[in-house]
Amino acid sequence: MRNDQRFWHRLSGHLILAGGALILIALGQFQWSRSSESEAATAATTAVPTQISPVEEVEGATAVAPTATSFPQGALPVINDSSLAPLPNPNTYQTKLPAHEFQMHEVARGETPNIIADRYSISADTLLGGNTWLSQESNQLQVGAQLVILPVDGVLHKVRAGETIDSIAELYRVTPESIINYLPNNLEFPFYRLVPESELVIPGASIGQFFFTAPKSVATNAAGEPQWKVFGTGTYVWPINGRCITQFYNGFHPGLDVGATEGSPVYASDTGTVTYASFAAGTYYDYGNLIVINHGNGFETFYAHLSSINVFPGQTVTQGELIGFTGNTGRSSGPHIHFEIRDRDFRTNPLDRLGGGYSNCT
Ligand SMILES: [Zn+2]
Repeated sequence: MRNDQRFWHRLSGHLILAGGALILIALGQFQWSRSSESEAATAATTAVPTQISPVEEVEGATAVAPTATSFPQGALPVINDSSLAPLPNPNTYQTKLPAHEFQMHEVARGETPNIIADRYSISADTLLGGNTWLSQESNQLQVGAQLVILPVDGVLHKVRAGETIDSIAELYRVTPESIINYLPNNLEFPFYRLVPESELVIPGASIGQFFFTAPKSVATNAAGEPQWKVFGTGTYVWPINGRCITQFYNGFHPGLDVGATEGSPVYASDTGTVTYASFAAGTYYDYGNLIVINHGNGFETFYAHLSSINVFPGQTVTQGELIGFTGNTGRSSGPHIHFEIRDRDFRTNPLDRLGGGYSNCT
């Protein structure tokens, strides 16, 4: 009896296996013929929708067995698309707008950016970051103006056509994740769609980083080391003959504006190498015709709003040499020169280094 039982047990097992095999073969034929048809119809199709392992018995099968392919309904396709969706289709994807809740401040008479920043315990930079329309060139706070007080240090960025998360992150030198992870920005996985004219908070960004960084490649080797032919003296002369300050250096205006009639000569403040000499169209701030001189000692000088430029990148200049003429190009409300002295990219007060007296023409 036990042998009989084993026999029947084994037999039934074999039958089940054989039946299963037949079903598999039948399925395989079906799949194979279907995929063959589709291949014939569209020769360019690459993915063969079959998960049946190769079955040798299939009639007409050649040596080329269908290889195991990744099945379409596996992981969700990752669309690496952080581009703008100007017309999001509400039926397929609902793009959420950022949902910010900002404290607002109405400017009162006599208030300065620093006073307002102190009042909310934020930096002047963050105050500017929340109100990028405030010009560093005007420095005027209109009484009654409404200022955004950002809840975190950063910049409030208005999205423009063509921008992506990556491009914005690059602009502010932050990581894309830092923008995505700021929840009120409402950027949703997986598309992170941006809505033009919407505003994103860029945590950790500083408007100061927006300032034009002159290309330094002219005077650096492949290793990025400076290869200056000349070096600054470390002293600085006034860039123009006038000493009429129309705007002083402060947190909102990191340079010195010196009034001058259009076409006044501009001189190199110290010996160095011209690293930039062109019209500079900054993202937020417009220097107009700009000359940048690298002095090879960590210092750079910037000469902005020029009417004409008499030097070229790579040219060495000596202290006091004529480099261009004053003008009113870029964001400028009258002929003047905007002059900066940067110490390793950090903008310093030029008056700390320029000798002699000056007059207040603000
Ligand atoms: Zn200025």
